[in-house]
Amino acid sequence: MMKDLRNHSLLHNNTFAIEGRCRRFVEFETKEELLQAIGTLGDDDRRLMILGAGSNLLLTKDFEGTVLHSAIGGMQLVGDTAMQPAADATDGTQAAAASDEILLRCGSGEKWDDVVAHCVANGWYGAENLTLIPGDVGASAVQNIGAYGAEVKDIIWRVEAVDVHTGEERSFDVAECQYAYRNSIFKRADHRQWLITYVTYRLSKRFEPRLDYGNIRSELQRRGIDSPTAAQLRQCIIDIRRAKLPDPEVTGNAGSFFMNPVVGREKFVSLEQQYPGMPHYEVSPTEVKIPAGWMIEQCGWKGKALGRAGVHDKQALVLVNRGGATGSEVLQLCQTIISDVEKKFGVTLRPEVNIY
Ligand code: FAD
Ligand code: NAP
Repeated sequence: MMKDLRNHSLLHNNTFAIEGRCRRFVEFETKEELLQAIGTLGDDDRRLMILGAGSNLLLTKDFEGTVLHSAIGGMQLVGDTAMQPAADATDGTQAAAASDEILLRCGSGEKWDDVVAHCVANGWYGAENLTLIPGDVGASAVQNIGAYGAEVKDIIWRVEAVDVHTGEERSFDVAECQYAYRNSIFKRADHRQWLITYVTYRLSKRFEPRLDYGNIRSELQRRGIDSPTAAQLRQCIIDIRRAKLPDPEVTGNAGSFFMNPVVGREKFVSLEQQYPGMPHYEVSPTEVKIPAGWMIEQCGWKGKALGRAGVHDKQALVLVNRGGATGSEVLQLCQTIISDVEKKFGVTLRPEVNIY
């Protein structure tokens, strides 16, 4: 049933556990309810925020506008990729090679990790490395969520959305989503009106584990597993993540606060001379990614705090609410870190988290 609340506290709608109110909060369970809600939006609702589970959000003040929150549920097997050739396939290759892939259409309000669990339980593969990422299905397609060498763009088939200003309905194939590292067309200012209602994922019936990222393989070996099942891989990633990342149920946080900077090769070479052994990852012949967490740690911030906002002691990329922090306190910590990293490395960190 639709909820339409006034002066709503968003404390339980953001994983940073920061108090902040919105003027109006509308939650809908179906596309029809969403269209009905859009019909009620007036001049007072000109400022809109589309909100999922709020796991990538920092609230620094009350939101003087209307929050739209999808609770559209459902995970439905809708066929396979051979039955529905991709609209963007320019030759027959994708459809022909894809006949052993199923299509799963999920409501944007489903919890992403429930989708991963459902896929693993049913023998549909491709989502395992994205295990335990907080948030909802809708945001998975906005953020192009990624972890352990995988990105959700690789298993997205189609995104259905509604324009919150006009009620127009539209379907985007994966090429139209313009995916890039933690980025998509839905993040662009001229596309923020699209509220995602359903995402269709394509999953393989063949399990091809990706174990080469970080300590996945060594952790499996430690458990005496050479050829893991998808369930074993999922469990391994759950354990690795739980050991390193703060649980938002216990300690407020929004995951990686900053994006990992990608610098030009010339800059990288000069930094490497200054900091021999600096961790880095090749992005292209001209670009190199440097882990922001390492830079923050080098600035002495790991495990430290500024007021009630702190830097996680096991991963410096994660800022945490040590209890009762305001959004402004976290923002101040964020700005201090950006300034310190800039001074030390000449690199400007950019927040991954949406700051309101
Ligand atoms: P929100 O924070 O509510 O919103 C994120 C963005 O999506 C906003 O711009 C919002 O407007 C938009 N949006 C939300 N729903 C819709 C919709 N239905 N239609 C249109 N736009 C919408 N991220 C990773 O990529 N990899 C990780 O490994 C990872 N680990 C994390 C670990 C922790 C402990 C935490 C707290 C966060 C982590 N994150 C990670 C970040 C976060 O989980 C993802 O960005 C996630 O996709 C956010 O989902 P959400 O539903 O909470 O979105
Ligand atoms: P990590 O393994 O300590 O690595 C630190 C950073 O180095 C990562 O952020 C990753 O960048 C990069 N990296 C590591 N190995 C890489 C490789 N083989 N190739 C390319 N880049 C590599 O990271 P972590 O904190 O434990 O996180 C593990 C995974 O979960 C990462 O993929 C991370 O992105 C993801 N994660 C994301 C969030 C979030 O909120 N966005 C939060 C927690 C974890 P990339 O992040 O660019 O991959």
